Amino acid sequence: MRSDITDVKGRDKMVVVKLREDGAVRRVYCTNCYSILGHVHALFNNNVFGSFVEHCVNSGDLTAPLSAILFMNDYPESIGPIPVENAPVFHSLRFPQEVDRLFSIAAVANSFKPPTEPTKGITMGALMESLGPPLVLNLEKGKDLLS
Ligand SMILES: [Zn+2]
Repeated sequence: MRSDITDVKGRDKMVVVKLREDGAVRRVYCTNCYSILGHVHALFNNNVFGSFVEHCVNSGDLTAPLSAILFMNDYPESIGPIPVENAPVFHSLRFPQEVDRLFSIAAVANSFKPPTEPTKGITMGALMESLGPPLVLNLEKGKDLLS
């Protein structure tokens, strides 16, 4: 969803988290109910932020159709059934060829381009920066925490 945040409530209950010090993704969680409110990656270019629609109340425009299914190499069968939606599947973005194929999808390229108009309010990245340094969990890469 586009990263224009015009109002923030509950700032005192938000924490920014990274899985590891060198982690590429920052997530903001609610410390009261542990909902994930959003995440950012440098790839998002401050144009969009990631939202998990079933993890918090979201009044944003979530009508964009699914364009790609990413990081299926991190999706063990124990999580649940594999996605059946008709969208290109990417197991990883390890190889430049995968990144090129991902960005050849117009909706993906459009979402991850730098903003073309001024931000209304602040971006999710700016909100995270205003919350202070991230809590780094130092989780072991690749370790399955559910088993
Ligand atoms: Zn909450």
